[in-house]
Amino acid sequence: MHESEIVIKTTNLTKTYNGVSVLKDLNLLVEKHSIFGFLGPNGAGKTTTIKLLIGLIQPTAGGGKIFGYNIKNESMKIRARIGYLPQEPVFYDHLSAREVLDFTARFFFSGPKNEIDKRISEMLELVALLDKADRPIRGYSGGEKRRLGIAQAMINYPDLLILDEPATSLDPIGRQDVLKIMSKLREHTTIFYSTHILDDVQKVSDSVGILKKGQLIAQGPIEEILRNKEEGTIFRVKVQGDISKVQEQLTFQKWVSKVNFTQLSDERDYLLEIEVSDEDKAQQNLIRELTRGNDLKISDFRQQEYELEDIFIKLVEA
Ligand code: ADP
Repeated sequence: MHESEIVIKTTNLTKTYNGVSVLKDLNLLVEKHSIFGFLGPNGAGKTTTIKLLIGLIQPTAGGGKIFGYNIKNESMKIRARIGYLPQEPVFYDHLSAREVLDFTARFFFSGPKNEIDKRISEMLELVALLDKADRPIRGYSGGEKRRLGIAQAMINYPDLLILDEPATSLDPIGRQDVLKIMSKLREHTTIFYSTHILDDVQKVSDSVGILKKGQLIAQGPIEEILRNKEEGTIFRVKVQGDISKVQEQLTFQKWVSKVNFTQLSDERDYLLEIEVSDEDKAQQNLIRELTRGNDLKISDFRQQEYELEDIFIKLVEA
């Protein structure tokens, strides 16, 4: 990958507190214009990583670059180009969303007031808060506050948006709204966000990094992580009839790695679980092999799709 296509790159980034390792040899690579989901259970080290990236804390060893700037001593240059949403954004409750954004925007722009107002309205519209923009934040829901936080982080046209658990502790609708906004932002910026909710990652990320106890145990495009699963694909077939020869016959095929069968409650029914190493070959030949020379009736045939959840649980529990 060309350097100019990389937004975040860390090299053996390590953080230790009082001799306890919180983050160990992290090598992250985040591509321009991607949505990168940084996934891991609570306490895995996600917030620590984010704090290191934006220069709120210093690494014990290793380092990293954002837009080619060193995270250790060029964080001012980095911060000028990023937007950041902390895990628990805090607002002055008596202010309105428009006032909060106006306050933030004045940090960044010295241009004419109507330009600033235009940007503020754009951001309010983006996060669907235009109709509430002039009411005090006091009355906002958790999801609305989080959306306001995103608008605030986006106000200075950042090239990278860093969101710490943007959808956590929201009700399902609040979460869905936040995720929807994140997908919309894809065209404007690169997004790096942390979460412990697998479902969110599956909905809106291009790439994921999975962190476990301070170590990155998988990283890459979601499809690649799903493809690199250890097991082959599994076909589950419900059959009726004499299966005495089926197991041997299938195991004989090069593309079959394992065959299991279970007798179902209706004694004539069996569930065959056939693990294969070559999905295409299996799709072409499996049914034919099952019925060849066997008096079998197939009542159900399905290929099991692996979900990221299966992989995640396996990786994290391993
Ligand atoms: P996550 O964001 O994935 O939930 P954190 O990065 O917040 O995880 O925390 C990772 C680990 O580092 C936790 O065990 C936490 O207790 C520890 N930790 C975080 N900050 C400090 C600190 N300032 N001093 C000591 N330990 C800390």
